[in-house]
Amino acid sequence: IAAVIVSAMSGVTNELIKCAQLASKKDSGYKKILKDLERKHIAAVGELIGARHRAKTLSRLDGLFRQLESIVTGAYRLQELSPAGMACVVSFGERLSGHILADALIERHVQCEYLNARHVITTDEHFEAAAVDFVRTDKAVRAHFKKHTSLQIVTGFIGATPDGKTTTLGRGGSDYSAAILGAALGAKAIEIWTDVSGIMTADPRLVPRAKVVPELSFEEAGELAYFGAKVLHPKTILPAMRKRIPVKVLNTFMPEDRGTTIVPNFAQRR
Ligand code: ASP
Ligand code: MG
Repeated sequence: IAAVIVSAMSGVTNELIKCAQLASKKDSGYKKILKDLERKHIAAVGELIGARHRAKTLSRLDGLFRQLESIVTGAYRLQELSPAGMACVVSFGERLSGHILADALIERHVQCEYLNARHVITTDEHFEAAAVDFVRTDKAVRAHFKKHTSLQIVTGFIGATPDGKTTTLGRGGSDYSAAILGAALGAKAIEIWTDVSGIMTADPRLVPRAKVVPELSFEEAGELAYFGAKVLHPKTILPAMRKRIPVKVLNTFMPEDRGTTIVPNFAQRR
């Protein structure tokens, strides 16, 4: 059993928020943002999926963009957007990238399936940063993965209320989604693929000689996050810590680097 949790493409969540805010203020500038977002995703499909297989993905994207357009247009006409509406709008970022990645892998003969996390992650109605109902979620995750044994490509960042309204887990919440699923499934490891080679001794943009810390305990990582280290969503640690699952922080652009491993116990740390 394995799962890949996806985030939205770079910058997309911010643009979706901007788009919805403009629309709800009766600013027709939202239309340009929508167009640009659509172009950006179509371009990604063009790069990742060969011409012969592209049509299905593009028509899926088209369906998603038309849905998104109708929601945002509704906000424009009503001059109003509720937190529930905003959560629904931002959920499109992960749904788009999830479909693109799943289709790109299928074209490369990787057996996989797209999974909208709304079907397994249940939360309360705090739409912007919802609290997870772990009892229901753990059960639903296990039941889903029992039936679906191929690689699951799962939308990070989003969940749903018991009556099916889309919620989000808070900004940067994809890492948290990965930990929620990893913990529910008793994964061997949870890997967070990011743009730096692990947790570092300082912010590498400010301190060029910053070094990667190869191993940290959960307590230490939590403390760093608390004091503002930006590499991990603080809540990410919790489900993994409860199940004592090591969390690795790895660099997408330098996959050979060993990164940082966060181990459950201070005593286990070398
Ligand atoms: N796409 C979401 C955000 O930008 C979640 C994430 O990236 O982890 O906050
Ligand atoms: Mg992110």
